[in-house]
Amino acid sequence: MSTLEAYRHEAAERLARIDADLAALRAARAVDNADDEHDPEGSTLASDWSQLSGLRAEALAQLREADDALERVAAGTYGTCTRCGRQIPAARLAVRPAATTCVGCV
Ligand SMILES: [Zn+2]
Repeated sequence: MSTLEAYRHEAAERLARIDADLAALRAARAVDNADDEHDPEGSTLASDWSQLSGLRAEALAQLREADDALERVAAGTYGTCTRCGRQIPAARLAVRPAATTCVGCV
């Protein structure tokens, strides 16, 4: 598995975990709503929900980033800065496999 594929795989797994957590939270909420609306537990659920939603958006963004990068691999443009057209250093791609720009163009 390439670094990029591993990067994509990690994002996909994270997304699946978050989706499972959100599903569990949704179920807990359904039970909670039947209860008193002013239950302090309700606000905890709401804050968990907004935190998980944020994490989900991040995982999804990483997944899309990885997919875009894989398309660039297929097109033969992977590793080339989209701004200046120079080669993105391998060290940078090792840290950010889906990077689209070189360090100078960030
Ligand atoms: Zn550049």
